[in-house]
Amino acid sequence: MDKQFRKTVIAGNWKMNMTPSAASAFIKTLAPMVADADCEVVLCVPAIDIPAAVDAAKGTNIHIGAENVHFEEKGAYTGEISADMLVDAGVEYVIVGHSERRQYFAETDETVNKRTKAALSRNLKTIVCVGETLTQREQGITEETVSLQTKIALGGVTEEQMKNIIIAYEPVWAIGTGKTATADQADEVCGIIRGVIAGLYGEAVAKATTVQYGGSMNAKNAAELLSKVNVDGGLIGGASLKTEDFTVIVKNG
Ligand code: PEP
Repeated sequence: MDKQFRKTVIAGNWKMNMTPSAASAFIKTLAPMVADADCEVVLCVPAIDIPAAVDAAKGTNIHIGAENVHFEEKGAYTGEISADMLVDAGVEYVIVGHSERRQYFAETDETVNKRTKAALSRNLKTIVCVGETLTQREQGITEETVSLQTKIALGGVTEEQMKNIIIAYEPVWAIGTGKTATADQADEVCGIIRGVIAGLYGEAVAKATTVQYGGSMNAKNAAELLSKVNVDGGLIGGASLKTEDFTVIVKNG
């Protein structure tokens, strides 16, 4: 399927790194380095960094995202942040269903679906993470796992809302481990996800949906991974904390 029909999105996921002042300094350094990028450049930052990041990114081609969103509109959910709050703070993107949220914060396919719908209801560009564990890969159920995760996450999402959906294929065994999926493995599973989208919404939507790869993408392996027909960008953890490395990835996007 032709890549020209969809946007390449290179998104950093800072996780619980960077204070607000470090975020601001980082973005000011990064901005001129990625100013001529051909792809969409996104930084998903900790909630407390959002005001500083939005301010530092003003007038640049860097878009700011959040790392999570709560599924309720408002109410007694101590410590949570709603989609309205994110939009009001100037956030454009949000990650949902990251494997660390699934692993450490009891996120399930059902709550990922609820968060996805909450984010889409406020027109946030929503990066939905799916991916198999090492055990699941060894059991030969990668296809079934990511297909199920994708289908459940997209339950109730309309064809119109698919314009704001990005799927990130993130094999759990490759996140923060230094073990990267081979470019062919990434391409194969991103293609499987595209097939699931085609089954749900038709070929035109599948062709237009950005499917990223994430899992130890770095300055050295980005070119090969991003050259694959089904890999439309990256979700990048560790390497998004270094301006030089992130810039190399962006230049390959
Ligand atoms: C991630 O956190 O989504 C990720 C892919 O991390 P890393 O690049 O460090 O593997």
